[in-house]
Amino acid sequence: MNIILLGPPGAGKGTQSDHLRDAYGLTKLATGDMLREAVAAGTELGKKAKDIMAAGGLVSDDIMIGIIREAIRSASKSGFILDGFPRTVPQAEALDAMLKEEGKALNHVIELKVDDEALVARISGRFSCAKCGAGYHDHFKQPKVAGVCDACGHTEFTRRADDKAETVAKRLEAYHAQTAPIIPYYKAKGALTTLDGMADIGQVTQAIDALVS
Ligand code: ADP
Ligand code: ADP
Ligand code: ZN
Repeated sequence: MNIILLGPPGAGKGTQSDHLRDAYGLTKLATGDMLREAVAAGTELGKKAKDIMAAGGLVSDDIMIGIIREAIRSASKSGFILDGFPRTVPQAEALDAMLKEEGKALNHVIELKVDDEALVARISGRFSCAKCGAGYHDHFKQPKVAGVCDACGHTEFTRRADDKAETVAKRLEAYHAQTAPIIPYYKAKGALTTLDGMADIGQVTQAIDALVS
């Protein structure tokens, strides 16, 4: 089963793709995570991506398409979830071509629809485990034991540098201008399901499970 999770920054893509990975054994391919790892490791890719990410812009299509081609080849036999890719129409077109070449197909393209005001609240309260990356929120998803990661027991957490208010505004602009056009692209192919991303985390998970299982 191959799934794309679409939606603006803060829509819940990371949260729901963790669930899909854990529940169905799919490989999670999160391009934002891959880029942050490259920046932290100081690789050539990281050097190219760093300033663009800090400014809330999009890394070039050529770079992103190259990354995802490799990642899809090494995904589990059960399939993959794309979180954060495609983010432009050229990326979506390139994805179609490479899936064809690889003899693979998309089973679901799921759009999580969330209002911009709610996104700002979600992003400003977002933090994650510094060790395993599990995602949390100051109000909507606190660890079960305060200060301790549910998934791995670690006690240090991080906040993304690009989750500050000025950068969030830029990222939302980039989403509306460059990413939202891929929604009609998938709609025209009859592949798109739009879910209410404003619901509680558990309710969104239930809606996704009902769709894919
Ligand atoms: P994305 O990957 O789309 O940017 P995340 O999954 O990281 O979004 O979610 C952004 C923040 O909002 C996180 O702190 C997460 O815990 C929280 N969150 C995710 N889904 C919901 C939801 N349905 N309701 C409230 N908060 C949510
Ligand atoms: P969010 O969880 O807020 O949706 P991501 O973690 O997916 O954000 O992405 C963080 C940043 O990484 C983006 O703002 C962008 O600079 C870069 N990025 C991630 N995926 C892509 C992509 N497919 N194309 C271009 N840039 C990307
Ligand atoms: Zn952890």
